[in-house]
Amino acid sequence: MTAPAYDDQNIFAKILRGEIPSIKVYDDEHTIAFMDVMPQAEGHVLVLPKAASRNILDISTHDLLHVSETVQKIARAVVKAFDAEGVNVIHYGEPAGGQTVFHTHVHVIPRFEGIPLKPHTGGMADSDALQVQADKIIAALGN
Ligand code: AMP
Repeated sequence: MTAPAYDDQNIFAKILRGEIPSIKVYDDEHTIAFMDVMPQAEGHVLVLPKAASRNILDISTHDLLHVSETVQKIARAVVKAFDAEGVNVIHYGEPAGGQTVFHTHVHVIPRFEGIPLKPHTGGMADSDALQVQADKIIAALGN
């Protein structure tokens, strides 16, 4: 398989350039994390490298290591923020793998026993509710 080239008009590239808004929970030199607008559960966060890549197949090892560090920080923070019993760390690669936005990102989702995930790219969440969740995650990251 030959993957298409990175397209810098994808929606996450626009968020990274500040052209469209996001509800941010974390930002450092190499990565950013913000709330998923169609969450599969409360506290669903996306972690992205700032550098361009489509997914796990073309990201540099250097960028992947930075993403992994941030994924662990966010995983710990969402579990703490929502007093969760578990966590999912999910990546969809290319359309056949379920990917819909072609800038590398990892889904971090707090989980509870017996509560199934909502569908991937289901309904839009209320942005005020997402901001409340983001504030809890930011607080959990800070201590
Ligand atoms: P994937 O299928 O892994 O590429 O998923 C892309 C994810 O991005 C989905 O879970 C969408 O709900 C989410 N998403 C799409 N547009 C936005 C946006 N503007 N801000 C935050 N999340 C988004």
